[in-house]
Amino acid sequence: MDFYDAAETWSRDRIAATQLTRLRSLVEHSRKCAFYRERLDAAGVTPESIRTLDDVRRIPFTTKDDLRSQYPDGLLCVPRRDIVRMHCSSGTTGTPVAICHTQNDVNTWADLMARCLYMVGVRPDDVFQNMSGYGLFTGGLGIHFGAERLGCMTIPAGPGNSRRQIKLVKDFRTTVAHILPSYALILAEHMREMGENPADLPLRIAVVGAEPYTEAFRRRIEDLFAMKAYNSYGLSEMNGPGVAFECPEQHGLHIWEDAFLAEIIDPATGEPVPDGEVGELVMTNLCREGMPILRYRTRDLTRFLPGECACGRRHRRMDRILGRADDMFIIKGVNVYPMQIEKVIMGFPEVGQNYLILLENDGLGDVMRVQVEVRDEYFVEDMRILHNLQNTIARRLRDEILVTPRVELVQSSSLPCNEGGKAVRVQDLRATK
Ligand code: ADP
Ligand code: ZN
Repeated sequence: MDFYDAAETWSRDRIAATQLTRLRSLVEHSRKCAFYRERLDAAGVTPESIRTLDDVRRIPFTTKDDLRSQYPDGLLCVPRRDIVRMHCSSGTTGTPVAICHTQNDVNTWADLMARCLYMVGVRPDDVFQNMSGYGLFTGGLGIHFGAERLGCMTIPAGPGNSRRQIKLVKDFRTTVAHILPSYALILAEHMREMGENPADLPLRIAVVGAEPYTEAFRRRIEDLFAMKAYNSYGLSEMNGPGVAFECPEQHGLHIWEDAFLAEIIDPATGEPVPDGEVGELVMTNLCREGMPILRYRTRDLTRFLPGECACGRRHRRMDRILGRADDMFIIKGVNVYPMQIEKVIMGFPEVGQNYLILLENDGLGDVMRVQVEVRDEYFVEDMRILHNLQNTIARRLRDEILVTPRVELVQSSSLPCNEGGKAVRVQDLRATK
């Protein structure tokens, strides 16, 4: 195995032993803030009482509301002067939370990120273009310092502005891009409208994450640009990107277990789910000095993949994120995740690069409308062909989610897109009626 740092080659035993030592130190260290000291005391948790990794379950969970209640610096465990950087979450589901890092924290983070990039074949000769928002969002500086650490020429392009994005790729012969999945398809569409083929760009690898997307969506990105796309998972509370990443096998994301302790729980009971079953990911940051976070409930849904990865790394893998617990909506009594819909529609070659789910109430009951862009070459005048497509999509959706939506076919580039950030896939207009 060609690796960036030795921890990638550790055996399960070595990983587990390191996790236990680090968990004990973390319990000790996190007592430096009143919030965790009180919580841990109330639960009777001391470093000595952590005897096995299962003892992590005696530590109370930390929720996003806890982090909000401690904003801005209630969770600091080092003197303020030791902090060198702060970031915030994007605020996708409400008030953002702030995380503060020491110099060691940002160094560890950059190394974890460099490890991810190296794993999928990024090398110092590569030119790395970061098409993510900079500023408080961790996908900017977090990825940037990882690519620099690896020795890549790193272009802080920022999000959107497709024309300039493409010019930079061409002028500097960019070989690796960090890009949001939704934006990748919009960029491809933009090029097509300019009469250009995205596959002609020098890009060979894309790092794609920060929002949920399906396997069908990934294949599309890979096909359009003729490059490999690797799934990158992270969250601000656990630094940001560099928490879990796909290896060249593209079968699950390795969680860097030397730095993070991952659990998957039943969100209703808080108990671990049987291996291989879907539940809520809970994460503990084992190495952070500035603001340790214990057993953070991510609200992201995934499962551990059983078995060992063919790449040789023994860090456990998780499946791609199914969605956030908060993304689920209920229509006619049925629970639906946007990714179930994406999985179906992105399987149709006629379907273009964007879609939108609208939930409404027409006075008689809830209605779900799925607006789907159709590629120009299929947007023909023969209404029968379009009707057929519409009906087939509606039928397949009904098979998947057990509710029949109204499918509306629209022209490419006609749906709203959020070039600067994470895609909004669902508009729930029911509450306003
Ligand atoms: P926010 O939760 O406000 O969006 P962050 O910017 O910290 O704040 O984003 C972290 C969240 O983004 C994760 O909890 C997860 O829901 C989502 N996310 C990040 N990477 C991925 C990925 N590869 N696949 C699916 N969702 C992801
Ligand atoms: Zn692997």
